[in-house]
Amino acid sequence: MKIAVFNENKVGVVEGNNIIDISTVVDWNNEDSQASLVKLMGNFDSLKPKIETSLDSCPAYPVEEVALRAPVQNPSKIVAAPINYILHKQEMNTALTVDGLGFFLKSPSSIIGPNETVLLPFRDRRVDHEAEIAFVIGKEAKDVKAEDAADYIFGYIALMDITVRGKEDRPWRKSFDTFTPIGPWIVTSDEVENPNSLQMNLWVNDEIRQSANTSDLIYDCYKFLEAASSVMTLLPGDIVTTGTPEGVAPITKGDTVRLNIERIGEFSVQVDYKPGI
Ligand code: MN
Repeated sequence: MKIAVFNENKVGVVEGNNIIDISTVVDWNNEDSQASLVKLMGNFDSLKPKIETSLDSCPAYPVEEVALRAPVQNPSKIVAAPINYILHKQEMNTALTVDGLGFFLKSPSSIIGPNETVLLPFRDRRVDHEAEIAFVIGKEAKDVKAEDAADYIFGYIALMDITVRGKEDRPWRKSFDTFTPIGPWIVTSDEVENPNSLQMNLWVNDEIRQSANTSDLIYDCYKFLEAASSVMTLLPGDIVTTGTPEGVAPITKGDTVRLNIERIGEFSVQVDYKPGI
């Protein structure tokens, strides 16, 4: 099932070219979509048949006629993997990988949704795109082993980890407002099947910049959940993002950045300078 947030933070199921508004079916509070998402995930086993039987009677709209919003709006944290593909390690010319670096946190306030705008905070510093597969924690996870990790993942999203290059620590360089575009919706785990074998492509102005497969992850989705949950409790609604493959490159004012992940979907954002810089 593809679960989207749209227009005035309503919740919908995407089927083909349509989005079906299930807000009333799942008692969704559009003034607190994060709490509503956590409740939906907690009750999903009983809600799923109810959602499926009501799809024919709920209002439906063409997806291209609604405004998609970030499918996760206010997680308690965004856990992110540094250097988790070998070819990205080589292009960054660094010694360590996720194995030695662990993880870092991005600010949840950096989240934006599809068709929003990344605002560059500097005119004279390099800012890069990073294409990543990310997942949404469905139930509290602590000390979870990789072989059990799938049980804790509600679904998958596409994520851009926008990054200022330089010597500051990663949370500073990756937490500017607008630096975490996510979308286009959450695809539930059953529909993704194997997240560790998906093609991922990123274009800037229709020029392909990143093209890789999640099968090349050093720590795959499950192993990275194990590593993160060995340190801290992952809460329902948290986002975990797994790192970028090779091909990172600068973005600048006027660019359109488009990310597509197999089985998950595609979305774009625009790039501009932050007002006043
Ligand atoms: Mn990254």
